[in-house]
Amino acid sequence: MRPLVNIEPYQRLSKTIYKHNKYHLKPPLVYREKKVMKMNKEERQRIFEMFGGKCAYCGKELNGRWHVDHIIPIYRNDTDEQFERRIKHGSRRMDIPRGKDVPENYYPSCSRCNGWKSTFTIESFRAEISEQAKRARAYSCNFRMAEDFGLIKETGIEVKFYFETQPKPQ
Ligand SMILES: [Zn+2]
Repeated sequence: MRPLVNIEPYQRLSKTIYKHNKYHLKPPLVYREKKVMKMNKEERQRIFEMFGGKCAYCGKELNGRWHVDHIIPIYRNDTDEQFERRIKHGSRRMDIPRGKDVPENYYPSCSRCNGWKSTFTIESFRAEISEQAKRARAYSCNFRMAEDFGLIKETGIEVKFYFETQPKPQ
């Protein structure tokens, strides 16, 4: 199959990195059929404005590198067969049908939230975020110290997404 993007620069970079660091950088998945529709400027602008130019999840202002998130993950790199296999073997996080690449499944997202959400559904993403304070305590001495001196207090509040606090976009 013909590559969809030019992978030559990645191969070149990969060689250099391998030579110097002994790490191998894989080129992106380019041989798969593209599952995502190309979006025009107006549609992208409409999505940007859904929540006043803010991330649907954390509510921070979107900067130049914002993403269009699929609310229900579409597993863009999986064929139907691969997707079925994931679900069957429970190796992934999907407990609802695979999402579609349609406007009703789009939310504007900052790159951090989009990257974290990845193939999580809304509810599994919420559960994931709920773990963050525990993780910070386990891994960061800065967090533990700040907590010991009363600078940080874990509230245990329920994670609410920004879109849940806003009127439903048209
Ligand atoms: Zn965000």
